[in-house]
Amino acid sequence: MDYLNLDELLKGLVGGYGNECSCDTTVIDVNDSINLDISKGCSTSGCSINDLNLEEKKASSDKKVPVGISNRHIHLSQRDLDILFGPNYQLTPIKDLKQPGQFACKETIVLAGPKGCFEKVRILGPVRPQTQIEVSQSDLFKLGLKAPVRESGDLAGSGRAIVIGPKGQLALEEGLIVAKRHIHMHTDEAKLYGLQDQDIVSVKTDGEKGLIFQNVLVRVGEKHALEYHIDTDEANAAGLSNSSEIEII
Ligand SMILES: [Zn+2]
Repeated sequence: MDYLNLDELLKGLVGGYGNECSCDTTVIDVNDSINLDISKGCSTSGCSINDLNLEEKKASSDKKVPVGISNRHIHLSQRDLDILFGPNYQLTPIKDLKQPGQFACKETIVLAGPKGCFEKVRILGPVRPQTQIEVSQSDLFKLGLKAPVRESGDLAGSGRAIVIGPKGQLALEEGLIVAKRHIHMHTDEAKLYGLQDQDIVSVKTDGEKGLIFQNVLVRVGEKHALEYHIDTDEANAAGLSNSSEIEII
């Protein structure tokens, strides 16, 4: 569709929180929305790979990186959080992610478009200056929405979406992206690997569905932990799980 009429969508699709959705699922009710469902919820990070210590890495010429698969999720601004959950709402952390300071929250939202919606989309904290929703290309087909492949935080002119919470709803003019595949790396590891922030590398995966990913962004900083972040489409294409490892080539 060329034009997404958000007003009409809001009227027809989400006349009220808990009303029937025009897509093939039902908009969840308030109680359902805050059900804790970690097993089906956000699988972002939660990586169980052991951290090799730097000495072990030095002993290896391979530039190995553990995989962290991002399921669809949302980062909210405090303003948008208040609209969805009520004034001065505070998120409830339930699980620390591998990236320091990042956490999965108890709270979830409904993400909707003209063709469908997803219930129980996990909120990741802490709050950010601008709301950002990360989905896969397959998710966009189901929603009937479009979004560019972008680095986190690069949201100007990104995709539109409807977000529904227990206390309100948002018609976002931008903020929907397919995250550009990237590697988080601590400054010390970057030195070891001979890489810098914003470098672009290729990575190789093993196994029956092994393949080479190009255009992988390297993000380096003191608050980054070594991890290759991809979405569920990419993980499935390569047969990867959160216990997989890739090699920078
Ligand atoms: Zn990431």
